This record gives sequence, C-alpha cells and structure tokens, in this order.
Amino acid sequence: MLPWAIRCGTFAHAPTYLRQHVIEFCNSCGARVAHRIPEGDMLTRAVCDACGTIQYENPKVVVGCIPVRGDRILICRRAIEPRYGLWTLPAGFMENGETAAEGAMREAMEEAHAMVEIEDLYTVFSVPHISQVHMMFRSRLVNDDFRAGTESLDVRLVTAAEIPWNELAFTVVRRTLEHFLADRESGIFVPRFGDIRAPVR
Ligand SMILES: [Zn+2]
Repeated sequence: MLPWAIRCGTFAHAPTYLRQHVIEFCNSCGARVAHRIPEGDMLTRAVCDACGTIQYENPKVVVGCIPVRGDRILICRRAIEPRYGLWTLPAGFMENGETAAEGAMREAMEEAHAMVEIEDLYTVFSVPHISQVHMMFRSRLVNDDFRAGTESLDVRLVTAAEIPWNELAFTVVRRTLEHFLADRESGIFVPRFGDIRAPVR
C-alpha cells in the first residue's frame, strides 16, 4: 500500500497521528512551506519554495532497558502522559550525541535514579503509525539505591508473579517482558524484532 500522503495528496483529512507532524514553516528561512513530492523523491515532503530547503521527517528512536536484580525486574509507574499511572520499563527518546546503550542507561537514571549496566540488545519494535523504533536492552541493576524520578510516581522491583499485566502502559513493554520471562525460563535469551500496529477502531 502506498503511504497515506501519496494516496490522498493532502494532509487536510489525515489521521491525527499524521496531522500533528505536519510542518507549516521552513526551519531555515521561516517562509510557509508547500507539501508535495520533490523531483526524484517518492514521498510528500515539506518543501520551501523561498529558499529551496526540503524538511525531511524521519522516525524517532526510543531506547530503554529491562533492569534486573536477582529474580526481580525494575518497573516504573508513569507520572506523565501518555498512559499516566500505568507501569512501564524505563525508556525514552534517544538524544543527539549519545549511543543507544547510553540513552537506555540515562533513561533508567532519569526515571528511576537506577544505575544499570547494559548487557545486550534484546528487542527492537517498529511502531509505524507513530513513526517510532523502540530498542530495549537487557541490563543489570547495579544496586538497590533507586527511587522515583520526576517522570515516575513509583518505582518497584517485582517478581514475574508481581508484574501488573493489566496496568502496563505500552505494547512494547508487554511484549518485551513476555519474551524476557519465556527466555529466562529456557535459559537462552534470543534477541527479537517485531512490528506493533495501530489498534483497529
Ligand atoms: Zn526556506
């Protein structure tokens, strides 16, 4: 299937998750941009006719980890939207200038004041309807000195039996935890990738 922008040719009736990304003004000269397919391209872009700049929008990378201490996993209860009050693994948008593993360590520190050692890449999920790629690492929680950061209401170390499956914030988190527990049972951790699609309404 062709991307939505090509099929429809306009953003006026775009689904909300596409519309919120529409660029109106040039980030180089400030002029209003046009949305069209540049010569030699295949997708609609924000094109500035005043200065010639084409603004490309590409997916964002979310990095996170499964902090493990003994047989328990550290989870965070979100103090921010989306999914306020639900539980997640520490994760967030990668910053410029850092590696994926550094970003995962930083997020654990920001959300849970947790010091982790990254062990290996574990799951990679594409989430195309919101243009994100999520990379989750296996990691070791270095000590018990953790507490809720500003983005968390609560932080806990939980056993597999204590994971609040009905109160998890994101599908990425649920599927990563499912893989992790199954692999821990078998004793072999296998990296996985998958796609998470928009729920059909
Ligand atoms: Zn411009």
